[in-house]
Amino acid sequence: MRFCSLGSGSGGNALVVEARGAAGTHRVLIDCGFSQRELELRLARAGLQTADLDAIFVTHEHGDHIGCAVSLARRHGLPLWMSRGTWRAIGEPDLQGLLHFARDGQRITIGALELLPYTVPHDAQEPLQLRCSASALHLGVLTDVGCSTPHLIAHLKGCDALVLECNHDRGLLAASSYPASLKARIGGRFGHLANDVAAQILDACTHAGLRHLVAAHLSLQNNRPDLVRKALAPAWGRDQDAIVVAGPEAGSGWIDLQR
Ligand SMILES: [Zn+2]
Ligand SMILES: [Zn+2]
Repeated sequence: MRFCSLGSGSGGNALVVEARGAAGTHRVLIDCGFSQRELELRLARAGLQTADLDAIFVTHEHGDHIGCAVSLARRHGLPLWMSRGTWRAIGEPDLQGLLHFARDGQRITIGALELLPYTVPHDAQEPLQLRCSASALHLGVLTDVGCSTPHLIAHLKGCDALVLECNHDRGLLAASSYPASLKARIGGRFGHLANDVAAQILDACTHAGLRHLVAAHLSLQNNRPDLVRKALAPAWGRDQDAIVVAGPEAGSGWIDLQR
């Protein structure tokens, strides 16, 4: 199994997860928060085209995640997974058989890939994040979450790789020129993860088998890669430079989970 962030941040998010099995190679696009043209450019940079995708999973209805998902699914006949709440929030579009409802705890199989959606606290209708598994390898994905819960920790334990939101530094957010209401939303329990909470989550999930750590969804105004690495370093317990920061433009590049 390998994965590649095509870009991460409030301007757009997309992550390709790929697994090889007896039935061939399968790829799922987790979130689709770009225009179709932009997404195609980013896929090409990862050596892919839309025809290489087997399904799309959208975590929630915010524009930086849903993006062109509906039009892309329609144009290419791609199965599109989302929660019922997300579908309602985007106006219940008719997807002519391409729509599949995802629920907390209900496994989804796409070739050799197994996706396990889990509920997170975020200010969306029915947000889901994912644990992705193939051949006993596990990737935990967690962005767009306001606080830690035992439920999300349970889903991220034992992973070989984590994509973990590190949205803001509390000090930078407090000192920013954002209006008080926006600061309260971002920093609230249904907002986005502060670096120190991301570090607590990492601390609760870390184990000897965790080999890849990707920090994602960094705020351009209220965070910096050096602050993220510093915050995660104690829980990570290894070389800070080994922490990959998925940027809004460059994403992460391919990361292979093979042992
Ligand atoms: Zn987001
Ligand atoms: Zn969101």
